[in-house]
Amino acid sequence: MSMDRQDGARFDGRVVIVGASLAGLRAAEALRAQGFKGQLTLIGDEPYPPYDRPPLSKTVLSGWLPVSHTYLPQLQDINAEWLLGVAATGLNLQEHVVELADGRRIPFDRLLITTGTRARPWPDAAQMALDGVFSIRTLDDGQRLREVLATKPERVLVIGAGFTGSEVASVCRELGLNVTVAERSAAPLAGALGGAAGMVAARFQRAHGVDLRCNVTVLALEGDANGHLSRVHLSDGDVLDVKVAVVALGAVRNVEWLLSSGLAVSARGVACDGSCRAFDANGIVLDDIFVAGDVARWPHPLYDGQLLAVEHWGNAVEQAEAAAHNMLCSPAERKPHRPLPTFWSNQFGLNIKAVGLPTVADQVVVTQGSVERKRFVAAYGRKDAWWRPWRSTCRARWASIHR
Ligand SMILES: Cc1cc2nc3c(=O)[nH]c(=O)nc-3n(C[C@H](O)[C@H](O)[C@H](O)COP(=O)(O)OP(=O)(O)OC[C@H]3O[C@@H](n4cnc5c(N)ncnc54)[C@H](O)[C@@H]3O)c2cc1C
Repeated sequence: MSMDRQDGARFDGRVVIVGASLAGLRAAEALRAQGFKGQLTLIGDEPYPPYDRPPLSKTVLSGWLPVSHTYLPQLQDINAEWLLGVAATGLNLQEHVVELADGRRIPFDRLLITTGTRARPWPDAAQMALDGVFSIRTLDDGQRLREVLATKPERVLVIGAGFTGSEVASVCRELGLNVTVAERSAAPLAGALGGAAGMVAARFQRAHGVDLRCNVTVLALEGDANGHLSRVHLSDGDVLDVKVAVVALGAVRNVEWLLSSGLAVSARGVACDGSCRAFDANGIVLDDIFVAGDVARWPHPLYDGQLLAVEHWGNAVEQAEAAAHNMLCSPAERKPHRPLPTFWSNQFGLNIKAVGLPTVADQVVVTQGSVERKRFVAAYGRKDAWWRPWRSTCRARWASIHR
């Protein structure tokens, strides 16, 4: 086995990727595209080949796209061993082995961790298990919720008005369903885009007929004798008769399998350096363990070197490609992963795009277009630096998709 890192074509060790979704697949493709000829194994706990998640809360729910059309295209033959439907349960750094739930031990020379996130569950497991209570993260989630929405329930309750919750509410209205959205903060999307943009989002949602309840928390989900959701208790004292609820409370990073590995792991993700190499618990960077996608936290020079963790499709792709490059190249050829974060969302007839990180801003100014006409650009800034393009924190663009 040659371990020469000067030339990817001559690195023929064994690469294992844990997390067989967007970042895992794109990294595998990049490894082969860059000449890696060694053994490649992808391990994924879902029973399916990699699929795309963004349509699950949009076109899949509306019925426009069947779930079978969400599988990610393989951009090239990756000649990999696929271990699907089995979770990694541990990582032995000394032996360079990934431990699987079925007892198998998979050795590696280089490891890439792309285990992403899962939907944050409702805090009460018994209430979450009621029939009619859904979350939306996986292909099965998308399929089940789609089937239920197609039965035209009298009302749908969406718990949480972040991007996913707002997209679900939008689809409900598109389908002509009554929808109530309960949001703990003062406005939808406020956590991601701030209060000012949140107020605009609130106006759009109400204009589309959403029964939007802000500054309200859901206290309890109540089931009937058959274990079906029947009522929901809100913090303002209201009780709603509702048979379908969608829990959209954000995501939890899939790091439990690494907790005793000796890597720098926390609920916020797996910490790595700017070249995607993982830190161990002492803050020492490891040359053979890499991290990419939603599960990664890495220092970004644009944001004072703070460790960023983002849940953006584009970042998963770009970081996977950077990790693949850095797994194969010589130390002198390592590339930093420092993209400008970007994301998009489609809801209520709008196409929302953001460049940068609105969450770290302390000012927002509409610089182009008009909120009334639903086409505008907002610039977010921090510490009076919003007007300097190179230090600008974020630009968010809201545009009607019906031009
Ligand atoms: C409903 C929805 C809508 C979205 N919409 C948008 C959007 O409009 N715009 C945007 O920019 N982003 C969007 N995103 C986010 C985007 O899909 C993610 O950023 C992207 O999926 C991250 O890819 P990933 O490969 O890092 O992680 P994931 O897609 O989370 O994949 C991680 C994989 O690892 C598996 N895994 C976890 N633990 C283990 C283990 N121990 N062993 C083996 N396998 C394991 C998981 O089951 C999963 O298959 C959306 C996400 C969702 C859920």
